[in-house]
Amino acid sequence: MRIVVGIKWVPNTQAVRFDPKTGTLIRTGVPAIVNPHDLPAAELALRLKDEYGGEVIVLTMAPPPAIQGLEHILGMGADRAVLLTDRAFAGADTLATSYVIAQGIRKIEEEWGPVDLAVFGQETIDSSTAHIGAQVASWLGWPYIYYVKKAWLQDGRLRVVRQLESAVEEFEVSTPAVVSVAMKALKARPVRLSYKLRAKLENPITVWTNKDLGLDPRCVGLKGSPTIVSKVTYLPEVPRKKIVYKPKDPRDAARWILAQLFSDEKTREALYKALWGGA
Ligand SMILES: Cc1cc2nc3c(=O)[nH]c(=O)nc-3n(C[C@H](O)[C@H](O)[C@H](O)COP(=O)(O)OP(=O)(O)OC[C@H]3O[C@@H](n4cnc5c(N)ncnc54)[C@H](O)[C@@H]3O)c2cc1C
Repeated sequence: MRIVVGIKWVPNTQAVRFDPKTGTLIRTGVPAIVNPHDLPAAELALRLKDEYGGEVIVLTMAPPPAIQGLEHILGMGADRAVLLTDRAFAGADTLATSYVIAQGIRKIEEEWGPVDLAVFGQETIDSSTAHIGAQVASWLGWPYIYYVKKAWLQDGRLRVVRQLESAVEEFEVSTPAVVSVAMKALKARPVRLSYKLRAKLENPITVWTNKDLGLDPRCVGLKGSPTIVSKVTYLPEVPRKKIVYKPKDPRDAARWILAQLFSDEKTREALYKALWGGA
């Protein structure tokens, strides 16, 4: 089987800021991780490879630092990685993102042969639309099943179990197909040093820009995104005031900190006594 796993290199959601002028997220300078909900997706793909052979190709559309995310999945055992990156892809909504990913999958087929399955996470922790799996399936014209927790081959067809709130369903699906894996469905295997070293030595990461994909610039990135953030009505502000307090005696510091934290004098005294033994 040739399986493509889509992952997103997501910023630490607490550190992301919002640009009210452009209506886009400011992710520059924010530490990032592989979207945690994509790890079960990678695990499902690797289990299918363990069982039936073939290869797992991890794919992301992102700026170049996302290579670290691709390396993580290579470290779990994926065989190749593809980074789709171009300034023209910036500012994409889910429609434009899924279009580029679908075209990336088409290009993978041109380069390395037919893809049997594309696997995605349930949703991301930074945008959480859960659109991408369904939209990629729609662009490719492939069947799509979401909330999948198990998959196997039977008589040449894919069978999947999906977990809904009140039911567990089993489907038979023709391939190629797209599935999204339920967020806590599978425990991801750890990264292995030997796989990471292999990735460093063999450099299995392919980078494609829009020149390689040959897509109309009007269909990608901000230009290809029909979703517009027309107005930001509320932007929560977290007021933070830096106060410098330099007491000579640490006991004064303790009293001062307790006074900032607790209005109730009894609580302050009790905590102070616990800290300083009544001194
Ligand atoms: C108007 C608008 C403007 C935006 N501007 C920006 C912007 O300037 N910069 C920006 O970074 N984002 C921007 N976004 C967010 C961007 O649309 C999403 O990051 C992207 O489309 C993926 O959507 P999601 O995170 O909700 O993924 P979901 O649909 O929740 O993700 C489901 C799964 O799809 C896969 N997946 C998701 N994204 C990718 C990817 N890029 N590559 C491979 N697989 C993936 C993962 O497996 C993931 O678990 C904007 C969104 C809107 C609506």
